[in-house]
Amino acid sequence: MNKIKIKTYFIFILLASFLISSSALATVSCPKPAKSQGNVNHIFFSFSKKESNLKTYLPQNLVLIDKEYLKNGPRCLTKQSYTAFVSMNNALKEDTGQSLVVASAWRSLRTQQYFARTRPSFAAGPGRSEHQLGTTIDIHIKDVKEGEYFSDTFAYSWMIEHAQEYGFVQSFNLEYEDSTGIPNEPWHWRFVGKTIATKVKNENLNLNKYLQDRKDAKLKGLNY
Ligand SMILES: [Zn+2]
Repeated sequence: MNKIKIKTYFIFILLASFLISSSALATVSCPKPAKSQGNVNHIFFSFSKKESNLKTYLPQNLVLIDKEYLKNGPRCLTKQSYTAFVSMNNALKEDTGQSLVVASAWRSLRTQQYFARTRPSFAAGPGRSEHQLGTTIDIHIKDVKEGEYFSDTFAYSWMIEHAQEYGFVQSFNLEYEDSTGIPNEPWHWRFVGKTIATKVKNENLNLNKYLQDRKDAKLKGLNY
């Protein structure tokens, strides 16, 4: 190869790698529907055995979670849930020195279909995962030691005490294993807003059942 050919070759390689990296960056974004797809109130949604499948529901206002809060990624959450998560994480860090990272957040129907197929005993069926609502996170601490469970951390004890102040609830716990049919999941937290989170925590309620009862009462025109 003469000098000109070598130069052209390097320019081509540079250009190609730039295009590959910029297209990879461009794909890192959250879906942005003009309005939510599906008539679902994602904050108060409840699942029941017969109905309440999310189908193709897609929330509006999904935003990318910043890298500093991610265990792996990219991941998306609704803006409101993400803002609440960041406030909670800041308070946690101030109180315990530990901080949280997100291992899973919003999941599309397609991703859930994939999980249900590949990990049927761990994942909820398609349309039946709180993760599709865009309000739910699976978390761990940032500087986790090998083999350390989230439930054994200071962060978890702090969450049990304070998460409701930021609108988060542990959806599935030991006490309600039999009625929800879902095992204790210390890492899985859902944003439902401060009022409901505080009520569920103070009265030690089964979150999904409470949301279902609330929905039934509202349909009957009752205050709940
Ligand atoms: Zn989860």
